Amino acid sequence: MSGNPDLWNERYKQSLLGVFGTPQRVLVRGSGCSVWDDAGNEYLDLLGGIAVNALGHAHPALIGAITAQLETLGHISNFFISPPQVRLAEKLLSITNAPDGSKVFFTNSGTEANEAAFKLARKHGRNADGEGAVNADGKPGSSVPGRNRIIALEGAFHGRTMGALALTAKEAYKAPFEPLPGPVTHIPFGDIAALEEAVDETVAAVFLEPIQGEAGVRPLPDGYLKAARQLTTDAGALLIIDEVQTGIGRTGSWLCSGGEVVPDAVTLAKGLGGGIPIGAMVTFGEAPSSLMAAGDHGTTFGGNPVATAAALTTLETIESEGLLEHAAKLGTWLRSRLESLDHVVQVRGAGLLIAFDLDAPVAAKLVTTALEHGFIVNSPGPATIRLAPPLILTQQQGDRFLAALPQLIDQVIDQKENS
Ligand SMILES: *Cc1c(COP(=O)(O)O)cnc(C)c1O
Repeated sequence: MSGNPDLWNERYKQSLLGVFGTPQRVLVRGSGCSVWDDAGNEYLDLLGGIAVNALGHAHPALIGAITAQLETLGHISNFFISPPQVRLAEKLLSITNAPDGSKVFFTNSGTEANEAAFKLARKHGRNADGEGAVNADGKPGSSVPGRNRIIALEGAFHGRTMGALALTAKEAYKAPFEPLPGPVTHIPFGDIAALEEAVDETVAAVFLEPIQGEAGVRPLPDGYLKAARQLTTDAGALLIIDEVQTGIGRTGSWLCSGGEVVPDAVTLAKGLGGGIPIGAMVTFGEAPSSLMAAGDHGTTFGGNPVATAAALTTLETIESEGLLEHAAKLGTWLRSRLESLDHVVQVRGAGLLIAFDLDAPVAAKLVTTALEHGFIVNSPGPATIRLAPPLILTQQQGDRFLAALPQLIDQVIDQKENS
C-alpha cells in the first residue's frame, strides 16, 4: 500500500475546520485491535477511537448486522417504529436493571444524550417544589417557576454542545461561547461535604461521571455515589449519571455505577454502537420517565434502524464473547503490571479504562513516541496516559505494549533531561 501523508495533511488543512489541531496519522484500515496507516504501518489500537470500538475494528458480527439492516430498512424517522429500535431499548433496560416504568431516548452522540438529560432536569425543576428558580448569576428572582440550579463536579466533561458544555468544567472550552445555559455550579471533585453543602431545594439535578475520563480517569471515592443518591433524594433533585465513557462494559460491567445506586437517568454513547454513532438516555423508574411528554424533545436520526441494529449486536456480542469478565480481568492485570514500571507514579481506572501518571510532564511526547513504535495511546493530561482499548484486546497484545513501554518511557524521559 502506498500513500502520501503530506498530501492528505494538506487537503485536510484546506478543507476541515481546524478545531482538532493537526492529526498525526492518516488511517486507512482496521481489523481486530490493529489499524494501518496509508504507508502500510500497523498500530496496536489501545485507545479504540476514545473508548468507542468495543469490538475492535471490522468485527464480523457488526458488519453482518449493519449490512443486513441496511439491506432491509435503513432510515425511517421517528414517525415510525422499527424493530431494532424497540429491541435495543428493551435490551438496555434489561442490562441496566432498570426498574418498572423506565424508558430510553436515543441520540447520535454523548453530548446529545446529556442535552436530553439537561432538558429532563429543567422539566423536573419546573415541576418541583422548592425555593424557586435563580437567575444566571445564582441570585433569586427569576420569573420562571420551580428550581433550576444544576450541580456538576470540577473536572467534569459532559460534551461540547451548549447545554452539555455548561455542565463541563473546563473554562477554556466554555469562555468563548458564553452565555451558556445555567446556572451550573461546579463543586470540588469527590468531596461529599461540598456536595452536602451544595444540594438544597434550589437544585434541579446533580450530574456525575463515576470515573472522570477526560480529567485523567479519576474515579469518584467509595461511598460518593451513595451519598449523592441520598442527598438528591432528600432535596427532591435528580441524580443523573454520565456513563458515556464508562458504560457498556468499558469498566467490566454494563454500568460502572451499576449495583451501587439507582439514578434518575443515565447517559450512554461511546461504546454503545461499537463504532456506529449512537447515544442514549435511560430514565430510571416512573417519575423521571414521565417528565418528558410528546413534543418535549425530538431527533431525526436518533434511534435509526442501522445504528440501533449495530448497538444491539454490540451488546449481544459483548455477552456471547464474555467481554465484561474479560475486560475486568485483563484490566486488573494491566494495571498491576503498569504499577511496577519505573517512572509510573500512579495507575487508575477500572476494567479497560485505565490511566497512569508519569513522574514528569512528558505524556504528549510519549504519545508521539508510542505512535512511532506502533502503539496508539492518548494523554488526557500533561503527565497522564490513557488506555481505552477494544474490549477484545488479548493478554498477548497487552503484553506487547507492556514489553515496549519501559523503553518508550526511558526515551522520552532522557529527551527531557537532555533538552
Ligand atoms: C465523550 C464524552 C461525552 C461527549 O460525547 P460525544 O459523543 O463526544 O458528544 C460526554 N460525557 C462523557 C463522560 C464523555 O466521555
